[in-house]
Amino acid sequence: IGDQLSPGSSTELKPLTKVAAGSSTPRVKDKVVIITGANSELGIGRATAHQYAESGARAIYICDFDDSNLAAHKAEINALYPNVDIHTRQFDASEEAKVKEVVDDALARYGRLDVFFANAGIVGPHALFTNIDDADFMQIMKVNTLSVFLAVKHAAPAMQKTSDAKPASSGSIIGTASVAGLRSNAGSTPYSASKAAVISLAQTTAYQLVGTNVRVNAICPGLIETGMTAPTYESARARGTEKKIGQLNPTRRGGHADEIARVALFLGSDESSYVNGQAWAVDGGLSAGHPYVP
Ligand code: NAD
Repeated sequence: IGDQLSPGSSTELKPLTKVAAGSSTPRVKDKVVIITGANSELGIGRATAHQYAESGARAIYICDFDDSNLAAHKAEINALYPNVDIHTRQFDASEEAKVKEVVDDALARYGRLDVFFANAGIVGPHALFTNIDDADFMQIMKVNTLSVFLAVKHAAPAMQKTSDAKPASSGSIIGTASVAGLRSNAGSTPYSASKAAVISLAQTTAYQLVGTNVRVNAICPGLIETGMTAPTYESARARGTEKKIGQLNPTRRGGHADEIARVALFLGSDESSYVNGQAWAVDGGLSAGHPYVP
């Protein structure tokens, strides 16, 4: 590569060959996928389930603690993509037995598990850290961090069986972290700590899974309009300050759930086969800079 890039190099670049029209395969063809935190109507989990269905997944488990919309989401996806099996599961993503159960179900039904998107999360108390109860701190860590640990703990061995049978395809575990886990955030100390721990889990478990063909990564969304941030958006709209939401990032707007879902699709697909142990900021550039104070 160095030779090819240096001026005056005699090495000729190979010409690109055109991909024949219609020859591209669906990006996650036949993959078996588990997504937690998929009930919220505006949420990242639901948007991701749609992306995977559209991109050829064989089966998708849409899971959430709250199952009020899961049947409706299943019907909606089934109507658009009748070839995809949609399973709904109501459970707390931080309960080990339940996480194991859904992984075992995927193995029993399909003999494989390809993607686990550990996306369930809750927002933390917005208070000065000295005023935060231990119990509230532990609850955030349980839902936001332990859930990702359990996903890796149970999905990775299941994925090893899958990739042993089909070595060209890697298993992919994705945890939803946050820019709040990458950079300090005055908003909520427990939330930021819980998301920083998700990034660390992706890094350390990716290393411990050396040679297994199972990858672990974290996505770090910026401010995205979802169920979680609906109150922020509502009050900004009521005050006429909505435009301010995007002012801290160079893309100059808040993000959409679909924009996170597309990255979750890439990380779950074999297109990202060399991406491992990483924290992917999807934040309009927010974490690339810092506020300029003249
Ligand atoms: P959302 O509130 O719309 O969706 C979160 C979903 O997680 C909900 O459906 C909720 O019922 C579910 N959930 C909560 N606790 C659960 C539990 N114990 N077990 C199972 N499900 C549970 O919010 P969202 O923005 O789509 O959140 C998805 C992920 O993205 C979260 O991990 C969140 O922390 C993260 N995130 C969001 C933003 C943002 O700006 N929206 C930014 C950074 C990170």
